[in-house]
Amino acid sequence: MIAKLYEDKPTLSFEVFPPKKDGEFEKAYEVLGELGKLQPDYISVTYGAGGSRAGFTVELASYIQNTLHIDAMAHMTCVGSKREDLMQVYRSLAERGVDHVLALRGDRPRDMSDEQFASRDFAHASDMMAFLKENTALHLAGACYPEKHFESFSMESDLNNLKKKQDAGAEFFISQLFLDNDFFYNFLEKAQKKGVSVPICAGIMPITSLKQIGTSISLSGSSVPKAMSDLLATYGDDPEQMRRAGVDYAIRQIRDLRENGVKHIHLYSMNRPKTTAEIVAGIQ
Ligand code: FAD
Repeated sequence: MIAKLYEDKPTLSFEVFPPKKDGEFEKAYEVLGELGKLQPDYISVTYGAGGSRAGFTVELASYIQNTLHIDAMAHMTCVGSKREDLMQVYRSLAERGVDHVLALRGDRPRDMSDEQFASRDFAHASDMMAFLKENTALHLAGACYPEKHFESFSMESDLNNLKKKQDAGAEFFISQLFLDNDFFYNFLEKAQKKGVSVPICAGIMPITSLKQIGTSISLSGSSVPKAMSDLLATYGDDPEQMRRAGVDYAIRQIRDLRENGVKHIHLYSMNRPKTTAEIVAGIQ
């Protein structure tokens, strides 16, 4: 049970991704061991696009829960899954004592045909949540988007859909990364007006290399404020300076969030213990 969130006490959690190949688990366990020393309230584990390598997510979540004795949350997506696929993953998690799932629709895999996409069992994350709520004992969380989800026509409709996720069983939300806190503050205000009352964790990703602009940031649909583009222009060619500047930016973002009453911080650790440890030290 990710207790502090339900008790409304401040939390700090991390996100990690599972290895891509079977032979890479030792390295992943080493990374987790280092992250575990920072005593996060929980660690979430991402799920391969379209449900690929679901077993890897289960294995890592189990290691977090049973070896590190830190609460684990497994991400699960439904875009490429049938009901029975989800139930199989659920049973594997339950056998290992993992009872929190971040329930996501996921992005349409490139190799999924129009016919497969149109006949998927779950159209939206809220449909998956309603199914899991009815058929499992899982605690469910969902994703939210301070700058709206890229498929939504408006923030208004995205927030209506967010409320549907709460109604379907989401007990808390984790936000997409954002680099300008004002987006998050505006979002919190609007979500509250729509009746979203469960905790919302602020998703913070340290931008420590120029490469992330072409990957994480463009995929997330988040905008890049001038302060960040200035930083990239100044330090982008020097990997260590850029890393330090990115750590510093994340620390300032988190401090500002906390000063403004945001209790729950979810750090996208990118499986980098050193960078994560520096951020944790900087926000004490
Ligand atoms: P949904 O909540 O279904 O929303 C998708 C779109 O449909 C939105 O535009 C929404 O407004 C709309 N919508 C929602 N419900 C309805 C409805 N009832 N009627 C009409 N429209 C509706 N992807 C992975 O593959 N693996 C991961 O591990 C992963 N982890 C993530 C973690 C976080 C914190 C976040 C923010 C995202 C993560 N993603 C992950 C990416 C995510 O799968 C994509 O952003 C995906 O495009 C949307 O997923 P969702 O659960 O938010 O979808």
